[in-house]
Amino acid sequence: MWLKSIVSLSGMLLLVSTVSVAQHSLFSPYDCREHAETAPAIEQFTVEAVPDEFNFSLEEFDIATDTVSGWKTWNYVENYAFGKDRGAMPMITDLHALHPIFRDRIVALIESCRLKGIELAIVETYRTPAKQHEYKTMGKHYTSSGAGKSKHQYGLAIDIVPIIKNAAVWDNTALWRKIGTAGEKLGMRWGGRWKKPYDPGHFEWTGGLTTANLYQGMFPAIPNADDLYPCLTEDLKILRKYWNEWEVEQSSISRK
Ligand SMILES: [Zn+2]
Repeated sequence: MWLKSIVSLSGMLLLVSTVSVAQHSLFSPYDCREHAETAPAIEQFTVEAVPDEFNFSLEEFDIATDTVSGWKTWNYVENYAFGKDRGAMPMITDLHALHPIFRDRIVALIESCRLKGIELAIVETYRTPAKQHEYKTMGKHYTSSGAGKSKHQYGLAIDIVPIIKNAAVWDNTALWRKIGTAGEKLGMRWGGRWKKPYDPGHFEWTGGLTTANLYQGMFPAIPNADDLYPCLTEDLKILRKYWNEWEVEQSSISRK
């Protein structure tokens, strides 16, 4: 059965410390940092949860420890969770499903918007090729990109929406501009600059890679990756496995 539980940071730490000798099966806790020579600097963001119905569960987000498995507990939402038709397949809303570097930029965006009094909910993070294909069949209003052609398929894009009084606000242009500007300041590309389709909830970052590069299996080169993300190669390998696992699970969920 698919798990939809909420994983707190303390829960994850406990899990890691008590089962660190477990075998490295796909879904068991694994931290390559046990074998790393130096521990990364710990930088902590505090992100308070938005209302439960938006399924944003990260009360605290610890950059140094969050890449240790737990993939099977990814949060997801069903269609219409944010008041719009997004197709039959569920949407992953979990930040852990993103490329670690992009994920950290999004945490910074959430934090930066919060300081401006803007609360953001996560609509979709990683998106499987199957889900992308579903959007494609739903029409140009949704996407112009087919399966494998969106940055969402590489954990390098996210869709968010501002929340006011527990409701998703899709049509406030001035509010979108504030959020978009904040994201651009963090070096991300903002879909609010696009016309086909205008996509103000969308942010992406590729470190200069094209979709074709990503499609060939490349990931962005990260300066100082050894210091900042000592387990990046391992993490990305595990992440890819989990993306595939999720796609299988997703089709069984949408058949229900
Ligand atoms: Zn998007």
